[in-house]
Amino acid sequence: MTLDKYRSKRDFKKTPEPEGEQPVVGKSRFVVQKHQARSLHYDFRLEMEGVLKSWAVPRGLPLEQGIRRLAVQVEDHPVDYIDFAGEIPSGEYGAGTVEIWDKGEFTLERKDPDLWEITLFGEKLSGSYALIHTDGNNWLVIKRKAKSE
Ligand code: MN
Repeated sequence: MTLDKYRSKRDFKKTPEPEGEQPVVGKSRFVVQKHQARSLHYDFRLEMEGVLKSWAVPRGLPLEQGIRRLAVQVEDHPVDYIDFAGEIPSGEYGAGTVEIWDKGEFTLERKDPDLWEITLFGEKLSGSYALIHTDGNNWLVIKRKAKSE
């Protein structure tokens, strides 16, 4: 189903009505940035709707099936951030070292408000993952069994 007709009738700069989520077709990019800040965590970012949807994952995304990890959603980041690696100076927000831990593409198979299903095509991370919203900013990220298993 397309929202083109709905959108064509409205100027979303003037109406408070929702524009609706952009359908995601084909592959988009993801990154995992290892961030050695005050505490080590992994920033997981999905390129979506012109921004990077972002989560801080204290223990990193699971590499093995059935493992679940806490992922705390943080503010959307600009798409340019996908390539960022380097030193954030001490005294600045997130001060510490950022390195690209993994990157690649993903497909979005399902996007319900509290359940997203994605497939990652990275160097380290590959296969089917679920993102499950639990409460507040808290999500769980789970590596799922492949469909053939
Ligand atoms: Mn971070």
